[in-house]
Amino acid sequence: MNLYTFLAQGFAPRLTSPAMHHPDGSVWMYAQLAARSAQYAHALAAAGAKPGDRVAVQVEKSAEAVALYLGCLRAGAVFLPLNTGYQKSELAYFIGNAEPSVIVCDPEKAEILGRLSSESAVFTPQVLTLDALGRGSVADAANTHSTEFETIVRADEDLAAILYTSGTTGRSKGAMLTHANLASNADTLVNYWGFSANDVLLHMLPIYHVHGLFVALHCALRSGAAMLFEPKFDGARAKALLPRATVMMGVPTFYTRLLVDAQFGKDDCKTIRLFISGSAPLLAETHNEFSARTGQVILERYGMTETGMNTSNPLVGARIAGTVGLPLPSTQARVRDDAGNVCAANQIGGIEVKGPNVFPGYWRMPEKNAEEFTTDGFFKTGDMGQWLPNGYLQIVGREKDLIITGGLNVYPKELEEKMDALPGVLESAVIGIPHPDFGEAVVAVVVPKPAAQLEEAALIAIMKAEVANFKVPKRVHIVAELPRNAMGKVQKNVLRDMFKT
Ligand code: AMP
Repeated sequence: MNLYTFLAQGFAPRLTSPAMHHPDGSVWMYAQLAARSAQYAHALAAAGAKPGDRVAVQVEKSAEAVALYLGCLRAGAVFLPLNTGYQKSELAYFIGNAEPSVIVCDPEKAEILGRLSSESAVFTPQVLTLDALGRGSVADAANTHSTEFETIVRADEDLAAILYTSGTTGRSKGAMLTHANLASNADTLVNYWGFSANDVLLHMLPIYHVHGLFVALHCALRSGAAMLFEPKFDGARAKALLPRATVMMGVPTFYTRLLVDAQFGKDDCKTIRLFISGSAPLLAETHNEFSARTGQVILERYGMTETGMNTSNPLVGARIAGTVGLPLPSTQARVRDDAGNVCAANQIGGIEVKGPNVFPGYWRMPEKNAEEFTTDGFFKTGDMGQWLPNGYLQIVGREKDLIITGGLNVYPKELEEKMDALPGVLESAVIGIPHPDFGEAVVAVVVPKPAAQLEEAALIAIMKAEVANFKVPKRVHIVAELPRNAMGKVQKNVLRDMFKT
């Protein structure tokens, strides 16, 4: 079945109810979203997007962009969203790699993308435009078409989308996601998190990423819930809108930014039944402060572009700070050591997952697929973690961020937690940098709390008393802030470059 059909079955009883409330006060009902998606399906097909063709989309977040996404699914084409921050050389790579038959971009990028396309000898995509206000040549084309479209039937294993991973090391890879992958994960999450048509989701995430596009949007569409659909996160705006919402999904920085406002508290969250966090680790400190201030226990979950969501703290039951909860009902998760043995509780290893949510592989990278799947079909996530004795999963970081110094493993998270707890420290990141004797040396990068005075030597001395000598940072760099990507992830590759000598 087509993923669109699956989502539309969910919102079919709600056609006369709001799908999206916009910042200007206007509202799109579900019927309007369905009709507009039909017009985009026609427009894309007319522009040359055949079933299975890629449609690359680099546009600002808007209701029209959501309709375009749904239209692409309906036309049977493969949706390929691109981070709005990508510039020419990055775009050249994605376009060359994915060979889309249609590109939709902001009018400002049309010239660059038009040129990139005409330079290609092999394929000639049609370039259409859509701006932040939902205007452009693709919207104009859509206006000329019928509001009815017979959604193209697709097989479970047909591709619905390709999302390029953020590529914090090496070249970004295109994760292929099938109609069945996305439908199954949406179904699991709607049930697990108790979504219903009574929900109102505060949607402030970007829609070029798995979190905002699939997790948030699909939960709302599949349950016929309304969304407060905002172009981006803004703390004051979030606070103003929360009293109209029942659920908020965010990355950890949403929560830390809400807490910066000393007035933010219980009264702002009276209507909320669920706060969800993911895409980057939520510090236990943030979790605890949030519940102390608001009485709301944030539900943390774990997933990635390649797999959708894998584990989650429960809706009913203990939500444990610093953990990502239990495997979702349809997903198997295991932790294995380097020798391939399944780890016991409290033993750190690589996290591997299997299930209908897990992607079939990377676009045109058979060698990567062979490396990153086990012979029994588990995907090696590249994350390291351990089961706690209560069965909850704890993530200790990315495998590539593991530091090996003098042959000994150092897990950055252990040190980061210790450093974060020191007086005057707001947050920290621990990295390994090349070292002639040890292979890698442990280095900490620390952000002080406002007005706090931190001294490198003093911090090193404290850490000496806290942890074994091989884990003690050789250097501590004090910086104003940590580099983060749009999803709130600390970019350790940037730090490794900054402090490599
Ligand atoms: P992305 O594909 O951009 O969604 O990034 C996926 C990666 O984000 C995962 O492989 C994890 O390293 C990280 N991640 C996602 N959720 C969490 C979480 N709750 N705690 C820690 N790391 C997370």
